[in-house]
Amino acid sequence: MSNGKRYVIPPPPQAALAIAGSTDLFPVRRIWCVGRNYLEHIREMGNDEREPPFFFAKPADAIVPDGGTAPYPSLTKDMHHEVELVVALKSGGRNIPTDKALDCVWGYGVGIDLTRRDLQIASRDIKRPWEVGKAFDASAPCGPLTPVSRIGHPKKARITLKCNGKVRQDGDLEQMIWNTPEIISKLSEMVALDAGDIIMTGTPSGVAACVAGDRLECEVDGVGKLTVTIGPALK
Ligand code: MN
Repeated sequence: MSNGKRYVIPPPPQAALAIAGSTDLFPVRRIWCVGRNYLEHIREMGNDEREPPFFFAKPADAIVPDGGTAPYPSLTKDMHHEVELVVALKSGGRNIPTDKALDCVWGYGVGIDLTRRDLQIASRDIKRPWEVGKAFDASAPCGPLTPVSRIGHPKKARITLKCNGKVRQDGDLEQMIWNTPEIISKLSEMVALDAGDIIMTGTPSGVAACVAGDRLECEVDGVGKLTVTIGPALK
């Protein structure tokens, strides 16, 4: 609508995250994800422990808010949960040094990198892209953000996921192989980061399948919570 231009179709709604204790919203530009950032998860997946973490992305409109429902996705018989610390950026840049990286962070939350594990592994094995396994609709449930002004920059905190009340994932942020400033710095070598980008920082061990009807409860102590229900597959 700017510069007197008009869109030929209505522009899509702005993806956004809730803010804990506020009615304000955080607008989401892009969702970046880190692969293989906890040693025990690398071991449970049978991957090379010495390989550096790497990045992939999900569409911003894959977000499911706290209390929401993520429909069981099509094409898979093995959808896994991966609970992750979410880092939300208020600024960015290219080639950000690690000692400046935390200046870019607005706040933190907890999210789930929902994964069609069967399709991810099939893609990996034939060296195809990961979108079919990672970037599907409703693949990024994400709880409310808490600003840095309230909690600082969490380095050590318990991160858990319960499925129907039973603990499945139970780790600590201090187990991350690459920490938040290192992730931001490394990712900024690949793309120009900017305000509104969020980063899912990898999952601890205990990933497992979930099915329609499951209730997933996630928490990073002192940072945030997220509850999401897996819904029936859409027709
Ligand atoms: Mn993940």
